[in-house]
Amino acid sequence: MDRHARLIDAYERRIDYLRISVTDRCNLRCVYCMPPEGIDLIESADILRYEELLRIARIAVAHGVTKIRVTGGEPLVRKGIVDFLRSLSLIDGLDDLSLTTNGVLLKDYARRLKDAGLKRVNVSLDSLKRDRFQKMTRGDNLRQVLDGLEEAEKAGLTPVKINMVVIKGFNDDEVIDFAMMSRTKPYHVRFIEYMPFNTQEGWQREKCLTARQLKEMIDAVEPLIPVADTKGAAGPAKRFRFKDAPGEVGFISPVSEHFCGSCNRLRLTSDGKLRTCLFSDKEIDIRKALRDGSDDSAIEHLLFRAVAEKPEGHQINENVFKKCSRTMSLIGG
Ligand code: SAM
Ligand code: SF4
Repeated sequence: MDRHARLIDAYERRIDYLRISVTDRCNLRCVYCMPPEGIDLIESADILRYEELLRIARIAVAHGVTKIRVTGGEPLVRKGIVDFLRSLSLIDGLDDLSLTTNGVLLKDYARRLKDAGLKRVNVSLDSLKRDRFQKMTRGDNLRQVLDGLEEAEKAGLTPVKINMVVIKGFNDDEVIDFAMMSRTKPYHVRFIEYMPFNTQEGWQREKCLTARQLKEMIDAVEPLIPVADTKGAAGPAKRFRFKDAPGEVGFISPVSEHFCGSCNRLRLTSDGKLRTCLFSDKEIDIRKALRDGSDDSAIEHLLFRAVAEKPEGHQINENVFKKCSRTMSLIGG
């Protein structure tokens, strides 16, 4: 294989973004992600070691991946995460390194993460009310998350993005409060459509407010002005801001207006499976090759095979669609 060949799929999409899930463990139990007792955990021995993750990351970057996002489960609960991020940040050719976190441990970690070379963080937060936060996450950690946001901003992990999953009848009455956070802080507040996974809570289409509905709700209070995307900076988010606001408001619509046509992602689960689409259960096992003494060309081959098998799109809006058997915490959202 050409040492410099690029990862391009059958639909001419260039795959330059790798999401690495470093753990399936989490310190919260969000209702849309996990049952209260948690999920059956992956055996520790089956979780990829950091050096295995780094090996895959280096090979992926050599073949055109320029962006890596580290996620989980909750990535900050895995021991050694700061050193791992430092090693990732040193990979030649990697332009963008970010992390998705629930923010519970962010206050303590923010500066060390920045020093390790992390560029920015996405913090998941679905309610600004303590009792509702508790109901939604089954944890009493709202204060810690808010402190974590402040600390991330101070540490320069910017722009700090806040991801809110909106569920009708649960937290949709807070949409305006979240949007208004971008008025007082330079946060990028992003609304994410509630997606169907195999969770105990059960997904219903009626509970999913679409990006269009959410934008209309906000526009009715104060009009949003479109922000021109600076070369894919937003990923699939549609970006807006209020007049003179320091922050932004964005919408991510995987359910109502999927962005499969421009999907540039590949996911690696913590147990070493490559997934080519968030909503497809098709996985390619890379752990076996990592552990049976295979050389880098075997790993490259698996990466290229995964990309070649990337589906054209998901089928949430078609009758054949079935929910993924893994939850987001196992896939790495
Ligand atoms: N624990 C970290 C966190 O919560 O940010 C990282 C992993 S979490 C699985 C990644 C993202 O997936 C979070 O923003 C979470 O809100 C989102 N997520 C999980 N289940 C979801 C669902 N059913 N619909 C939409 N987003 C979901
Ligand atoms: Fe944990 Fe993130 Fe899933 Fe919530 S969404 S249970 S914080 S992995």
